[in-house]
Amino acid sequence: MKKGNLIIFSGPSGVGKGTVREVVFQDQSLNMAYSISATSRLPRPGEIDGKDYFFITKEEFKKRIQQDAFLEYAEFVGNYYGTPRSYVNQLLNEGKNVMLEIETNGALQVMKKVPDAISIFILPPSLEELESRIRGRATESNEVVLTRLAKAKSELALKDQYMYNIVNEDVNQTAKEVANIIKKHM
Ligand code: 5GP
Repeated sequence: MKKGNLIIFSGPSGVGKGTVREVVFQDQSLNMAYSISATSRLPRPGEIDGKDYFFITKEEFKKRIQQDAFLEYAEFVGNYYGTPRSYVNQLLNEGKNVMLEIETNGALQVMKKVPDAISIFILPPSLEELESRIRGRATESNEVVLTRLAKAKSELALKDQYMYNIVNEDVNQTAKEVANIIKKHM
């Protein structure tokens, strides 16, 4: 069986990556699989362990770093996030196109390790719109919001490292563009 493609999918917090991903995944012909990351962050209301993330402690995360269990990992706004290596390899061997929805530091690590990975960066229509979306996430403290905003700006500066940039004006249109990119590489 032909191995699947690895797709690096990044964009600042609040840009709508998750919603675009959900639309892309509705197209069965793309044979997609989502890489569920491990994180030391606490679950937000409604998030499910084993579906949105594997929620683990910082100590457990550090143990897994020592065991080389991550394809990549990064610290983001005070917490660890990482891609489980064996799970991703298993899915790729099954012929799935595996999407990693990860921040830019982790993305740069994967680009180095897997040069033929497809990398896509999603941009907001404007910085103002992004700010209001991040501020709208009322589950987080003001301090976290401000850190996420600063982080969003530093992430945007890395967009040229990616093979593709898409401005997310409309979720369905963006999802269509992502699907076309994946089809082109299949
Ligand atoms: P959030 O806390 O909003 O769920 O995620 C924060 C950021 O971490 C997002 O940009 C998300 O894409 C990224 N992220 C999620 N999982 C991983 C991962 O396994 N590795 C890396 N490097 N970033 C991740």
